Amino acid sequence: MHPGFFNTKLEYLRGVGPQKAATLNKELELFTYGDLIQHYPFRYEDRSRFYDIGDLTDDLPYVQVKGHLVYKELIGEGPKKRLMARLRDQTGELELVWFQGIKWVQSRLKLQHEYVVFGKASSFQGKFSIAHPELELLAEAQPTAGFLQPVYHTTETMKRRFLDSRALGRIMRTLIELAKDKIPETLPHHLIDKYRLMSKAEAMMNIHFPEREDLLQRARFRLKYEELFYVQLRLLRQHSVQKETFRGYICSNVELITRFYNDHLPFDLTNAQKRVIREIFQDFKSGRQMNRLLQGDVGSGKTIVAFICMLLVIGSGYQACMMAPTEILADQHYTSLKEFAEALGIGIGKLTGSTTKRERAYLDEMLQNGQIQILVGTHALLEDWIEFPKLGLCVIDEQHRFGVAQRARLWGKNPEMPPHVLVMTATPIPRTLAMTVYGDLDVSVIDELPPGRKPIRTVHRFDKHRLRVFGFLKNEIEKGRQAYIVYPLIEESETLDYKDLMDGYESVSRYFPDYPLSIVHGKMKAREKDYEMARFVKGETKIMVATTVIEVGVNVPNASIMIIENAEKFGLSQLHQLRGRVGRGAEQSFCILMTGYKISKEGKIRLATMERTNNGFEIADIDLKLRGPGDLSGTQQSGVLNLLVADIAQDGKILQEARHDAQQIIADDPNLSAPEHQPIRHHIDSLRKDATNWSRIS
Ligand code: ADP
Ligand code: MG
Repeated sequence: MHPGFFNTKLEYLRGVGPQKAATLNKELELFTYGDLIQHYPFRYEDRSRFYDIGDLTDDLPYVQVKGHLVYKELIGEGPKKRLMARLRDQTGELELVWFQGIKWVQSRLKLQHEYVVFGKASSFQGKFSIAHPELELLAEAQPTAGFLQPVYHTTETMKRRFLDSRALGRIMRTLIELAKDKIPETLPHHLIDKYRLMSKAEAMMNIHFPEREDLLQRARFRLKYEELFYVQLRLLRQHSVQKETFRGYICSNVELITRFYNDHLPFDLTNAQKRVIREIFQDFKSGRQMNRLLQGDVGSGKTIVAFICMLLVIGSGYQACMMAPTEILADQHYTSLKEFAEALGIGIGKLTGSTTKRERAYLDEMLQNGQIQILVGTHALLEDWIEFPKLGLCVIDEQHRFGVAQRARLWGKNPEMPPHVLVMTATPIPRTLAMTVYGDLDVSVIDELPPGRKPIRTVHRFDKHRLRVFGFLKNEIEKGRQAYIVYPLIEESETLDYKDLMDGYESVSRYFPDYPLSIVHGKMKAREKDYEMARFVKGETKIMVATTVIEVGVNVPNASIMIIENAEKFGLSQLHQLRGRVGRGAEQSFCILMTGYKISKEGKIRLATMERTNNGFEIADIDLKLRGPGDLSGTQQSGVLNLLVADIAQDGKILQEARHDAQQIIADDPNLSAPEHQPIRHHIDSLRKDATNWSRIS
């Protein structure tokens, strides 16, 4: 073991020195040998292969081409000045362009000489060109060592200080030579055998300087597996510590629930709802604090499950709160729960950003004396002054808007004992991701919709056919239905989107002069939004023109048509969420995705997926593959996804294996004291000791 070695400062590495070290510190946050060796290439270049110009396509990675320079010319003036050249081989011609450093390049370009050119080719009107290619006279070209050349992330500043990817590669070689005998094995033998893994040292060498494609694949697999294994091990251990440490109120009085079932519950619960309630009640009985994620597609009936859980808690003498991400949603929950609560003689209150000071003082008093048993609200519930003497359960609706830190703040709302926490989400997170991101939560899933729901019919229509779509809409409204028309709201160009929305509103009101409309958008005051929303809920207005503020939660069963404008601008999960606003009543519902003719490749996949399926889990899976996990809101805060090699979207299978192995090990040997688990022990210890940077390895 040489933990000291990997903590050596970079300036001591041959070829680095204080100045370059300072640049690496500043630009890439690399401080030690350990940091640098884990700065893995983000791609590799195959410099052994030459492409024919005639074979180039737009989706190729970087390509290497050989040919004669047949033309060069300076074009344009001032900032538009550029240098154009053309390279020819037997199969065609390729354009080369430079916008900067023109003088120097120009002096090196010799017509009729043969060159090796390297870069990313892209086509315009059928012609391929490379901007700022790397270029060498064929006669002078060095045969490159190794099979694949590593390409490292660098910054503009680094390039200016002669620390480009190639320079970094040279430094990396020096480091690997020094380090290769000092890299400790971090996995136990039985796992190495099970997957025939490369040793850690071999993997580190091959990820930087692979000699063959298959060795690179094996190196990547080994490092991915290890990374995911340690993530899972950490989460699982945390989880079990959490479970052992935090006690929770025991809630078992079902009196209120029985009354509710017998006298007030308006429908039969689905089997999935019943199962999930049983799972939650087990937690309530256990004497341990519950931390549970409740997943269920839009419309699966999570609210009633939460309410029934609250009844158990309240019946046992405690209080409950429910936190929603928007004011509209908090209102809606409040209104629907209030009806039930009052029928059962339960005190209920509401706290949002627009609650006045006087009302707050009153709420506080009622909370303290126990007359409020359910408090519904927005993140105003997190404000410091809020304290519940007997808070037993926090329900967090639509989790993806809240981070882990906020969840933790709720724990403090009852100074005596942390409340049980039920997190509800309609963003169906694929299981692999849930396991990683919410490793500290148990997971329950409502995988069944209430009976009698007709699947929503989804179609894609082009803007050109808007009149036909409006004609259809008119028909449906004549039959008594209501509709949403939604416009995108992208933060960067809020003004532009606002204009789109207003233009849209204009044209809708022109086409439907006889129907009262509602409009809701982010620039309105909460009170105005509520007013508009309320009119729509009551059926006074027939069409709701809105931005995505209506995305989550709102429930208007009579609304059966969802028209999404500029649908290509939305992510899949968001489209699915929006669609979930309809299909809540007995009538056939429709979702119409409007776009222009220009749609990206991914956009087409998103639209086709929406047309094909209503299944939220399937959609979430595809979304994850399209966007990568970093984009799933809420996941960044967890910090868990700060992965170096593994990729949750692609490596779900490895993740599952790694989790399974970690579980097994913890079950067999919770303290990791068996001799064969020493590498794990050592690794965890060294992570703890050098918590500074080397720790990024897990
Ligand atoms: P979500 O899971 O999206 O939050 P909601 O809790 O808003 O869904 O429920 C959607 C609608 O379905 C509500 O109108 C609710 O009253 C109704 N609902 C919930 N459970 C059932 C059930 N078992 N049978 C019939 N309708 C139900
Ligand atoms: Mg809901």
